[in-house]
Amino acid sequence: MRQSHLFTKTLRDAPKGEDAVNAKLLIRGGYIHKTMAGAYAYLPLGLRVIQKISNIVREEMNAIGGQELLMTALQPKTVWDETGRWDEEVMYRLQDAHGGETGLGFSHEEALTDAVRAHVQSYKQLPFYAYQIQTKFRNEARAKSGILRGREFLMKDLYSFHTNEDDLNAYYDTVADAYRTVFERCGFETVYYTEASGGSMSHLPSHEFQVPIEAGEDTVLACDACLYAYNEEVWAEKSVSEGLSCPECGKAELKQVTTSEVGNIFRQLLKYSEPMKALFASEEGGDKPIVMGAYGLGISRLMGIAVEDSHDEDGIIWNEALAPFRVHLIALADKEGVVAEKADNLYEALQQAGIEVLYDDRDARPGEKLADADLLGMPIRVVVGSRSLEQGGVEVKRRSEVEGLVVSLDQVVAQLS
Ligand code: ATP
Ligand code: MG
Repeated sequence: MRQSHLFTKTLRDAPKGEDAVNAKLLIRGGYIHKTMAGAYAYLPLGLRVIQKISNIVREEMNAIGGQELLMTALQPKTVWDETGRWDEEVMYRLQDAHGGETGLGFSHEEALTDAVRAHVQSYKQLPFYAYQIQTKFRNEARAKSGILRGREFLMKDLYSFHTNEDDLNAYYDTVADAYRTVFERCGFETVYYTEASGGSMSHLPSHEFQVPIEAGEDTVLACDACLYAYNEEVWAEKSVSEGLSCPECGKAELKQVTTSEVGNIFRQLLKYSEPMKALFASEEGGDKPIVMGAYGLGISRLMGIAVEDSHDEDGIIWNEALAPFRVHLIALADKEGVVAEKADNLYEALQQAGIEVLYDDRDARPGEKLADADLLGMPIRVVVGSRSLEQGGVEVKRRSEVEGLVVSLDQVVAQLS
């Protein structure tokens, strides 16, 4: 993409009162626009990152049998009354034109269970797994962490439906493995598999996937050897504390870490199917409520965590999996137009080779272009200028490194491929 065509530009300042690093850098880079507290628009560059994340998540959910669907954000009060969740604090409650009451979904157990009970009647239809990537609305009391905590945000939510608990437990572990693959592919080095309360229904715990970042809102007791951890809810119950040898592996001491929760998996069992009468005819005869699991993953929060995890004072440092473009090609203009011509040709050649390129073809000062490249944070910067051409090529530099090297023009496409 030619940067001159991009309607966004970089901004000198983030809005007043925006303290979170992720929001400051993403707003200044033109990745997102703050609509109001807790609501951010994804501008063209930001949407590309969201799509990168979504594609990884989608591939891994499909790989474990997930069927993608799309539920509505608007939901009737009646369905929430069946489980008693209409009055949850985070629910946005609306009055519609006909006097009915409607809510904006903060989660989709009720909505999906309502659809499932219309379609599933027999054990022969179980198990199955359905997921979506969809906008959630939560009336969060505190929305101060940029896109880490939105009032409107993107979540992937997967739900599983089983005849019995053993089957659910096996799938729960399958999902946990798929999540590990997702986070690895997204470039996160450390993600703690964190034990949390299972809720009123399950004697088994739920698990959170927690990423260590300073701006995180959670504190966990974590083992750096096996990456198991405990969230605050279970410290007393499990008698774990800082300095204790890890109960899981015994290879390291538990330490307190500040983290952000990127995903959360639950065994919900009959919590929704029982009150909502989502029943199936069992093999032995007789109707039983469907056994359920739910598995959330914060798509937009993940983008914020990536920025918190990887930046410096000049800007964002994307890894290759999440970057909107892999290469930022920068033409430092000269009077003769030689640079522009060579850069145009290189832009074409890189695209032909299937490399995603943002091409800074703007009429701007070199200092401004290089500063913008640092702020935007593409993994590889390729600079074409009269000086590099005199030295025999173009300068190639990783965003994460200080020194670049000069690569001859006829080698650069092959090297980057
Ligand atoms: P938290 O404890 O951070 O409020 P939660 O436990 O309420 O999150 P879940 O209901 O488990 O969140 O949602 C699944 C995932 O959605 C979370 O793991 C998180 O990554 C993401 N998420 C939850 N709330 C928000 C929010 N307000 N903004 C952005 N992402 C969120
Ligand atoms: Mg959670």
